[in-house]
Amino acid sequence: MARCYYCSSEAVVAQCSGYEADCGRFYCATHAVRGLCQECGMEKLHAKARELILEDYLAKAKEIHKQDTKKWLRFYSGCIFIFLPWILFLQLLNNTFGKRNEYGEISAPPGVIILAIISIGLLIYFAWKPRVWRKRAIAQVEFTRPGFKEFVRQNEHEIGTPLPKKITNVAVWAVFGIILLAVMALGESASESQPDRDIRDIKNRLGM
Ligand SMILES: [Zn+2]
Ligand SMILES: [Zn+2]
Repeated sequence: MARCYYCSSEAVVAQCSGYEADCGRFYCATHAVRGLCQECGMEKLHAKARELILEDYLAKAKEIHKQDTKKWLRFYSGCIFIFLPWILFLQLLNNTFGKRNEYGEISAPPGVIILAIISIGLLIYFAWKPRVWRKRAIAQVEFTRPGFKEFVRQNEHEIGTPLPKKITNVAVWAVFGIILLAVMALGESASESQPDRDIRDIKNRLGM
């Protein structure tokens, strides 16, 4: 007669089919969990709980990412629609009120210099704000969801890349592409052989 693996009772109800691994233990009604033996059943429960926790973390991280992207978009559109015209306006002020020396160089009026410094300070402040917001939001969630910060760090591909990083990535690829094109163009002009060059010279001389 088969006995329960956990209590040696002979009132066995089933043999465990195992959770993600073979088991084969017999178990009684007291040691049955979710249609498996106690150990395998608990493992199954924990795995389910882990899955739910990860789903919850991911949802929270995506929510933060969405807000973060919104903040960055606001910053970048602010740069284009407010900061850029403002800089052009300062340039205009500078050209209008700056003193020209004998070489035509303009020395900026102190007012314009002060405004420019304040503008750059504000720009840095507004670029810094979304970073602080994101950090704080993640730290806040960490209180109720331990390891959330680490989770965000490790699952960026699923949550979404922060907008500044995305822009930097595109910029890096663009620079890489330009360098590649330049190298190819150089290679092309260097690969022209001597006879080719001679023919071209003759053609040039003949006006062809
Ligand atoms: Zn038992
Ligand atoms: Zn089992």
